[in-house]
Amino acid sequence: MKDCSFHTMKTLKIKKIKAREILDSRGNPTIEVELETDFGKFLASVPSGASKGKYEAVELRDGGKRYFGKGVKKAVKNVNEIISKKLKGFNVTKQKEIDQVLIELDGTENKSNLGANAICAVSLAVCKTGAKAKNLPLYKYIRSLYDIRNTKYVIPRPSFNIINGGVHAGNELDFQEFMICPKEKSFSENLRFGVEIYHKLKEIISKKYGKLATNLGDEGGFAPPIKDPETAIKLILEAAKTLNYQEKISIFLDVAASQFFDGKKYKTKFGKFSGKELANFYFKLVKKYPIEGIEDPFAQDDFESWGHFNSKLKRQKSKVLIVGDDLIVTNPKRIKMAKEKNLCNAIIVKINQIGTVTEAIEAVKLAKSFGWQIMVSHRSGETTDDFISDFAVGICADFIKAGAPARGERVAKYNRLLRIEEELQGSKI
Ligand code: PEP
Ligand code: MG
Repeated sequence: MKDCSFHTMKTLKIKKIKAREILDSRGNPTIEVELETDFGKFLASVPSGASKGKYEAVELRDGGKRYFGKGVKKAVKNVNEIISKKLKGFNVTKQKEIDQVLIELDGTENKSNLGANAICAVSLAVCKTGAKAKNLPLYKYIRSLYDIRNTKYVIPRPSFNIINGGVHAGNELDFQEFMICPKEKSFSENLRFGVEIYHKLKEIISKKYGKLATNLGDEGGFAPPIKDPETAIKLILEAAKTLNYQEKISIFLDVAASQFFDGKKYKTKFGKFSGKELANFYFKLVKKYPIEGIEDPFAQDDFESWGHFNSKLKRQKSKVLIVGDDLIVTNPKRIKMAKEKNLCNAIIVKINQIGTVTEAIEAVKLAKSFGWQIMVSHRSGETTDDFISDFAVGICADFIKAGAPARGERVAKYNRLLRIEEELQGSKI
């Protein structure tokens, strides 16, 4: 009798999709999905933002008393009772087709019906399982799925958020993130610079402001009792200089300015600014410090300030990146709008802002067609899911930000990149 090996008997069909409520790194409920095929069961979970953009796809929350309204039982039910039934029997390697089915099944522009959290968790789980079914590492599978014509695999430069402010911290810093972005070629060297500066910064903050000041914000960066963004930049540069690394790093800021815009003025603890005045403040910072990029320098609807800032920097032939996060929300429509109005030259990519892997990749492709740079990003409320690391390598991102190089949910992403780096060094691609 002919040997019919188990492998050849395996089918690519989705057998079952089961969701459950788990916790994110802030202790809030989020959704995890378990997808079952002949290739085994695969888990995926979605993160959750605190400084969310107004135009993001909708995260479905239960309301009521349970978890202060933050439960996700409705989203779980939508997966278990609606999505699971619909996708049963689908070929798990048909990512685009499946994402389209999810979009149509929801039927709304902002995924408020089934919930972007429910849809995104399923889309991620489908992608992970598809990679396994094709016997490819996830980053290679993502590259192959979307016809990204690049034969080189490069690990994006990591941007470490080492001082936290805004809605991510209990201090008085209005700017949300102060990041260092090492410039070496190898990821593991960049990671080491990030870690050494992080630890040196802790020492410096402790000496200047006392031990209590080394408490952490949501993304693992320090949250010292300071108000002025310049003080934060100086602390970081002092740490880098002490180690003789000042030439090896640049700085990225995420101002998250929508959070302190009242419709007319930007109200901060270090002063009140019009859009133009805030732009002048940035011009001074950019001249004085090694700032490579500023994310969300203005509020998501304050196009006038974005346009003014972007064109003025262009006229000066500045290389500073103006990065749209709340402005863009990983949405191709917002990218087109921002291009027409000339608002930015780089974007943050967060898959759960739009809801499916396919739509996030459409956003990446469109932004790249304009010559814009890409920074793949985690959320402030994370899980230990490391999908974004493979995603960032797969789509040839320029940068990845996943918080400080500390805390489990943040280092999960950086540690996955270490493994990918090791794998790529071992193979000739
Ligand atoms: C960000 O604004 O870039 C960010 C990661 O924060 P959140 O997840 O809270 O939106
Ligand atoms: Mg941001």
